Amino acid sequence: MVKPVATVHVVPKLPKALARLEELAYNMRFAWDHETISLFRRLDPDLWEETNHNPVSVLGNISQDRLNEVKNDQAYMASLERTLAEYDAYMNDKNTWYRAKYGNLKKDPIIAYFSMEFGITESFQNYSGGLGILSGDHLKSASDLGLPLVGVGILYQEGYFQQYLNADGWQQEMYPINDFSHLPLKVVTNDKGEPIKIDVPLPGRKLYCQIWEVKVGRVSLYLLDTNIPDNPRDEDRSLTDRLYGGDRRTRIRQEVVLGIGGIRALEALGLRPDVCHMNEGHSAFLSLERIRMMMQEKQITFYQAQEIIAASTCFTVHTPVPAGLERFGFDLIDEHFTDYMRDLGLTREQFIDLGRENMGDYELFSMSVFALHMSYGANGVAQLHGVVSRDMWQWMYPGVPVHEVPIGAITNGIHVQTWVSREMATLLDRYLDPSWRTDESNPEVWSGIDRVPDAELWRTHERRRERLVAFARRRLAEQLASRGASPSEIARADEVLNPDALTIGFARRFATYKRATLLFRDLDRLRELVNDPDRPVQFIFAGKAHPHDKGGKELIREIINVSRMPEFRHAVLFIQNYDMSVARYMVQGCDVWLNNPRRPKEASGTSGMKGIYNGCLNFSILDGWWAEGYSREVGWAIGNGEEYPEDEWESQDRIESETLYRVLENDILPKFYNRGRDGLPREWIEMMKSGIRNMAPFFTTYRMVQEYTDQFYIPNYDRITKMTAPGIENALNYANWRHQLGSTWGNVAVTDVNIDVREVEVGGKGDVTATVQLGSLAPENVRVQLYYGKLDTRGNIVEGECIDMALAGEEGNGTYLFKTDHKFDATGQQGLSVRVLPYHEYMHTSFQPNLITWA
Ligand SMILES: *Cc1c(COP(=O)(O)O)cnc(C)c1O
Repeated sequence: MVKPVATVHVVPKLPKALARLEELAYNMRFAWDHETISLFRRLDPDLWEETNHNPVSVLGNISQDRLNEVKNDQAYMASLERTLAEYDAYMNDKNTWYRAKYGNLKKDPIIAYFSMEFGITESFQNYSGGLGILSGDHLKSASDLGLPLVGVGILYQEGYFQQYLNADGWQQEMYPINDFSHLPLKVVTNDKGEPIKIDVPLPGRKLYCQIWEVKVGRVSLYLLDTNIPDNPRDEDRSLTDRLYGGDRRTRIRQEVVLGIGGIRALEALGLRPDVCHMNEGHSAFLSLERIRMMMQEKQITFYQAQEIIAASTCFTVHTPVPAGLERFGFDLIDEHFTDYMRDLGLTREQFIDLGRENMGDYELFSMSVFALHMSYGANGVAQLHGVVSRDMWQWMYPGVPVHEVPIGAITNGIHVQTWVSREMATLLDRYLDPSWRTDESNPEVWSGIDRVPDAELWRTHERRRERLVAFARRRLAEQLASRGASPSEIARADEVLNPDALTIGFARRFATYKRATLLFRDLDRLRELVNDPDRPVQFIFAGKAHPHDKGGKELIREIINVSRMPEFRHAVLFIQNYDMSVARYMVQGCDVWLNNPRRPKEASGTSGMKGIYNGCLNFSILDGWWAEGYSREVGWAIGNGEEYPEDEWESQDRIESETLYRVLENDILPKFYNRGRDGLPREWIEMMKSGIRNMAPFFTTYRMVQEYTDQFYIPNYDRITKMTAPGIENALNYANWRHQLGSTWGNVAVTDVNIDVREVEVGGKGDVTATVQLGSLAPENVRVQLYYGKLDTRGNIVEGECIDMALAGEEGNGTYLFKTDHKFDATGQQGLSVRVLPYHEYMHTSFQPNLITWA
């Protein structure tokens, strides 16, 4: 393998009339604009497929003759003109959601969104799976909404692996080199045309990075790359070769590049972020660099700067599986941060405390713990995941009831224009208000689905199913050919799958908890189903296992084995090398999307959401997003949200696979094949419409990015503006107060609680008075709260609610009376308690300082 040490950007010789094709090719907006895609496909359909849908590569490889031909093709030129007019209108739109809502801010904040991976389009393999796709969809919606946001990530020379299977069905990994000169990226240069470079510290040397810019509509994504001659060592140049490759040392260095390097890159570009969003903990070192810069500039201490930086940072957790969290041994921390700690004025112990996690017999530095300490505002990615996360992280907030642990939830979404099929979009254009393309979270717009005639919706969907079947056969033939199969074997690929049969898709990462083979537990029962001549069903699988995940690879092999059995060959197919293109074919063409993880391990899942907009119905365990999306009108549940301890997993699999077969046999198949005289499955079509009507307004990144903006970006920006403008005195006073809280809080106590009733009728009131010692704290620095709720069998208050008590008198010596009249709304035994929490207007939550005093 020869790695390029330099890349030459080959500029296509475009005729003047076609010059702006280059502009379209270099803005990834093409990834969600069917018209732009069509322009490039029409240039050369074969080349378009060969390049895996890469317009820059198409322009770089197309023949001059063809370009000259196109120049004189009036229909083509008219399409180009129309597409450019729409592109210009999009890029210059002044009436965005952001402008309308936040246009009155004195200055727009710079919001920086950090992620280890970005999946924007299939030809740019800079992602592994769900996290990357979500990041890409986040940027696309930020662009649509007009948000002043920039993305920050890493540019991988090899990216994530390409999957192929050997003759035994065992996953093999291939790492083709990304040719950056043929991708829609450009090196960022200074006025003299020289690449802008930054460096980050490595033990005994500096590691240099250059910066690439990717245009994603109106948003810029900056990617760091260490493969430059400035780094003499091979190990440094290859640091950014692979996403999630290499050992722990590689990983921590990549995270140094992403976090510290990312902030330095933005600084070099004159883009100092006001607000940072850490999408998962990989990027959390960014806080250290922001703190270091602030300490130097303002001559303040670490803890003062930390308060300011944390107040402008939010953090999204993605992993409900503790083993999946990012952690490093202290040896790697020592190796990489010994000098850096000194710059921050921290001892080793102080530094490690920022991320310390007790693992039982030993301790590690946890990026999640660190990120929670470094942010004001954290969230999970679905409502159920919020609950799971609060439970998982409760240990960090001692004394805080689990439902009040300050980790919220913003449910994931998908970028509709990226995932909706062209055929479906055309249909929606015809019957819905045109604003379905721009005002995606408006329920009224989507209710227009009722105007779509059943027959047209069904025909549109059937056409996509046919496309999927044709695509799957083509892929199978290619897979067979590359394995050296005989021509007759290859020809048989055209006999697999049936374009009219009920088609169920299952595609995702092959982690064992996702139980890809649950369906195969009872092969006899499945054999009956797939061979039923009247109501056939077929299954298409796709997905990669992590290279080190033997268990995941076993599952793939099991599917391959089944797909080779004579009774299953026609109805079970595995498509290799799952990527965004395969995903689109599948979510656009399948009738049903299957998901059967072991609840509650699926944080959200997004592929099922992609189906909604294409009329694909979900059939899933009530986990992740489906726990909130499901209703009987829009799809099917497997079970009722049960959770099982590990020693009962075997019976869980038995029970849940039973349910899976039963729902399939008794509900899904009959509905699909229950056709009227016109051949239409009316009930099924009604479910497709209900899915769109009920769920389409919600499961979009358009709604999701709005929530991040309203809940985190703008509140954090407001807070930081109040703290630091015009001078930072406010921030310093707050930080000092906050830092001293630890010692002053020791004197806080609730010495007496008085309730003037013992028994009341529902709706009756009682006065509650608490005597509280505050020591040197003023009453406005605390919140005294009545906490109340039903009692469990052990006499504990469960899921209590709270109200603030009002200051009612001063007894001297730092002792105060607080009072409230409480209305008893529920019958039965009610427990009451009183608690004291610190309060400051700059705090994100009173729970964060970990100071809570109960009566
Ligand atoms: C959408 C998507 C994913 C994520 O799907 P999940 O349902 O979250 O597992 C992964 N890979 C690709 C290529 C996708 O398009």
